[in-house]
Amino acid sequence: MLEHITASEIAGYAVGTLLLSATISASKIDSFISSSQRSSLGMCRRCGDLKLIACSTCRGSGLIKEGGPFTLIPVVGVNTKKPPSSSPSCTNCRATGHFSCPDCSNL
Ligand SMILES: [Zn+2]
Ligand SMILES: [Zn+2]
Repeated sequence: MLEHITASEIAGYAVGTLLLSATISASKIDSFISSSQRSSLGMCRRCGDLKLIACSTCRGSGLIKEGGPFTLIPVVGVNTKKPPSSSPSCTNCRATGHFSCPDCSNL
C-alpha cells in the first residue's frame, strides 16, 4: 500500500539515501581527484615519477647479502679459510636493484 507512505517519509528516505551515497562517493571522489591530480601533474601514481621501483628482494642493492651487512666472521681457525663468497646477484631484478616502472614504461 503506497498510500501509507507520506511525502515526508519519502523525503526523509531520499535525504538519507542521498547523504549515505554522498558519504560513500565522497571518499571515492577524493581518491579519484588526488590520483587524477597526480596524473595531471605528470606524476606517476606508482613510482612518483621516479620511473623506477626499488627491488624489494635486494632492497635496491642488486645483490643478495646473506646474513645482512653485519655478518659475524668466525675467528676460530686460520685454516678454515673459505674462498670469499661473492654476493649472489639478485635474480628478481637481474642485479639492477630496481625495476622500470610498469606504469611509466607503458606510456
Ligand atoms: Zn633485486
Ligand atoms: Zn611510474
